[in-house]
Amino acid sequence: MINKIDHIGIAVTSLAEALPLYTEVFNLKLEGIEIIENQGVKVAFVNAGNTKLELLEALSKDSPIARFIEKRGEGIHHIAFGVENIATRIEEIKNGGLRMIDETARIGAHNAQVAFLHPKSGGGVLYELCENYEGEKK
Ligand code: ZN
Repeated sequence: MINKIDHIGIAVTSLAEALPLYTEVFNLKLEGIEIIENQGVKVAFVNAGNTKLELLEALSKDSPIARFIEKRGEGIHHIAFGVENIATRIEEIKNGGLRMIDETARIGAHNAQVAFLHPKSGGGVLYELCENYEGEKK
């Protein structure tokens, strides 16, 4: 089942320029910065209490985040649902006639398993499924 909003992804041009708003003005805690090569992004996770914000900066001009910012500007990029048994959730979604961008889960930030739905199947919203391994795998 989908059991929570795991995080909200926000596309930014520069983490260095974007972060002070979150850490200094909103006073939220920066949990860490990590590079995810296979998605072409550098991400910063900010703890917002009951969920997290994932700020995404493109590593190169052909990263999906760079193309997103070019077309739509900075802002909300995706909403990530926290799930268990991600492979089963993907099958359910496909059986429901929806399209996945990722037919199988891949490794995202924090070694979580992630898979994106096609935005056309999400009413224009890019949804991510995210299964965390907190405490099991570091
Ligand atoms: Zn995400």
